Amino acid sequence: MKRRVFSGARPTGRQHLGNYLGAIQNYVALQDDYDCIYCIVDIHALTSLENTSELRMNIYEMMLDWLAAGLDPRKSILFIQSHVPEVMELHTLLSMVTPLGWLLRVPTFKEKVKLQPHNVNYGLVGYPVLMTADIVLYKAEVVPVGEDQLPHLELAREIAHRFNSLFGDTFPEPKAKLTSFPLILGLDGKEKMSKQADNDIEIALSPQETIDRVMTAVTDPARQYRNDPGHPEICNIYSLHRYFNPSQLDDIASQCRTAKIGCVDCKMLLAQGINSSLEPFRERRAALATKPQYIADVLADGAQRAKVIAQETLREVKQKMGLI
Ligand code: SF4
Repeated sequence: MKRRVFSGARPTGRQHLGNYLGAIQNYVALQDDYDCIYCIVDIHALTSLENTSELRMNIYEMMLDWLAAGLDPRKSILFIQSHVPEVMELHTLLSMVTPLGWLLRVPTFKEKVKLQPHNVNYGLVGYPVLMTADIVLYKAEVVPVGEDQLPHLELAREIAHRFNSLFGDTFPEPKAKLTSFPLILGLDGKEKMSKQADNDIEIALSPQETIDRVMTAVTDPARQYRNDPGHPEICNIYSLHRYFNPSQLDDIASQCRTAKIGCVDCKMLLAQGINSSLEPFRERRAALATKPQYIADVLADGAQRAKVIAQETLREVKQKMGLI
């Protein structure tokens, strides 16, 4: 039997290159070796969303990207978190075994308090408990995480461990599958690529939109004139060539250092590389976009398959806690 992987991602709508090169490609790669459950965590999104008018569209666009990028509903369970409400019931039960002190110490809770002081809601502090419920409801053994998410997973392991010691072995303590998510800088060359920072390149853009977007990128700040030699090692565009023009890397670096290539041409080369690499993805996405019912069916089927596992776990948890 394959080991089970669980991963959840917030519904952020159309995915960008950072999501694609980090999470999505990794999700696709894991499908053959693990029993994968991938979930769009809409309840988690509510901890920081006050306006939910775009939530449904964001879920739809994200799922289009996931499917077009190679997530396969025949291999993996793909569903929306709230469509399996058992997770909220398990969240409540796990919250009874989770000391408040553990949650108040979580660094991301403290960061969120600073980021949204007007909306420090109860869900924010309980976030790691819901995350634990997400994982253990499906008895997942493996969770793909970047190094920055390790403390969260450690807390999930502690909560699962505490439940097991109080009520008997029930949940596997989930292990991290450390993934070296490449840090993809945004077009500003400073911050991590993100929608919030408006420094992203969406993978579903048209070829011309991609060119326009890439042309706005900040490059080596020391290279002010066309004849100035550049420093590819500190240039954001160069770092993206690694993924989209790997065979030309040395050439681009030397042409940049000797000012044989200008930044506009270099950006055009990158945009062409992105466009040709994403062409099959974009074709699949366009075809999928004509079949919204198919997307709805994939999500409904995923929720149904997830529910079977969820109900069985929840029954076991309630029995062990003396509720049945
Ligand atoms: S030529 Fe390319 S690698 Fe060099 S600074 Fe300009 S964009 Fe960056």
